[in-house]
Amino acid sequence: YSQKLQLSEKTEVISQLAASVAHEVRNPLQVSRGFLQLLQERSDNIREQGYMNLAIEELDRASVIITNYLSFAKPQLDTVEILNLSEQLKHVEGMLFPLADLQGGRLEIQVGPELYVTGNAGKLMQIFVNLIKNSIEATGEDGLIKLWAYEKKGTVFIHLEDNGEGMDEMMLARIGEPYLTNKSKGTGLGMMVTFQLIDHMGGELHFNSKKGLGTEAIIKLPSASAK
Ligand code: ADP
Ligand code: MG
Repeated sequence: YSQKLQLSEKTEVISQLAASVAHEVRNPLQVSRGFLQLLQERSDNIREQGYMNLAIEELDRASVIITNYLSFAKPQLDTVEILNLSEQLKHVEGMLFPLADLQGGRLEIQVGPELYVTGNAGKLMQIFVNLIKNSIEATGEDGLIKLWAYEKKGTVFIHLEDNGEGMDEMMLARIGEPYLTNKSKGTGLGMMVTFQLIDHMGGELHFNSKKGLGTEAIIKLPSASAK
């Protein structure tokens, strides 16, 4: 055994442990949240309602942290297969459409049926969820988020464009650093995880952004179509 192998084995054990903890913890969090909400609705004491609100917010924060990490730390279910991009994005759209709607924005996904990439379905979902959630959070009432994709010379290009608040050059240069966030309830973990997931798929992630105008994320992934 080389030292390096032992280290990677340790990492494997730790991330498997993290994944099972994350899964196990998510359900009791949801259950507690439900009961707190019930109590909050029944209470006629303003101060009590405030405390319960705080408790609910903190539970939500724990959920967000798990969501940002979850599929990244799920190596035991890491089945790698050929994935149809448009099918995967339908799931993502179903998950995020209500959130976009809630913010008053629009999410438009236009992807042809014949684009394929190789990877783990859960991890590919996580990539899009993290990116699209950021776009939703950066846009307001007249938010427009567009996603389109095409293949060129063996590479699948996916563009995600929003007309949100954008990033200044400082932020743009640092995006992907752990704990970098401009949100009071942010974790600054989403992009770090996303960069790693795309890297593991042999791909690349680039951002263009102008403060006040919007942001474009460009994902490049090796195509899995028969050549
Ligand atoms: P979080 O969303 O928890 O803040 P992320 O790692 O997902 O953490 O994002 C890091 C930061 O990058 C965000 O807080 C935001 O400042 C910036 N950012 C990411 N995506 C966008 C976007 N589409 N528009 C504007 N800013 C963005
Ligand atoms: Mg985020």
